[in-house]
Amino acid sequence: MSSLDDLYRRVIMDHYQNPRNKGSFDDDAVIINMNNPTCGDRIQLQLKIDNGKVSDARFTGEGCSISMASASMMTDAIKGLPVDEALNMADVFSRMMQGEDVEDELEELDLGDIEALQGVCKFPARIKCATLAWKAMKKGVSEQPYHDKA
Ligand code: ZN
Repeated sequence: MSSLDDLYRRVIMDHYQNPRNKGSFDDDAVIINMNNPTCGDRIQLQLKIDNGKVSDARFTGEGCSISMASASMMTDAIKGLPVDEALNMADVFSRMMQGEDVEDELEELDLGDIEALQGVCKFPARIKCATLAWKAMKKGVSEQPYHDKA
């Protein structure tokens, strides 16, 4: 278990130090600003949504390693996904943060590095750090006309 924790810590630090998809788009994108006042994390997420798919995602912001690593992992994971699959992933992630056993779903979804955030659920104060980027993504796609509100 402790070697797994070590591995996860390394994955998180790698995303923090070398964030994927950091930046902004020059042209139109869905822009969502969100912050987590309890830790001081803030993020601006930019999404490109075409034909019901998240075709691209970028983010800027600053905050703790968990919040930034989570944004990096999230943008990587949802790129190219249909909106409903991205939302499903957000749902699985949020249940993982509540400490639910989502092992089977994780395997099915191929969340990749996101699994490294699993241990965060043991630290309630950090859960909001980990879910910040996901909440921004959910808000962004739900503002899209493609989204079925039913
Ligand atoms: Zn934080």
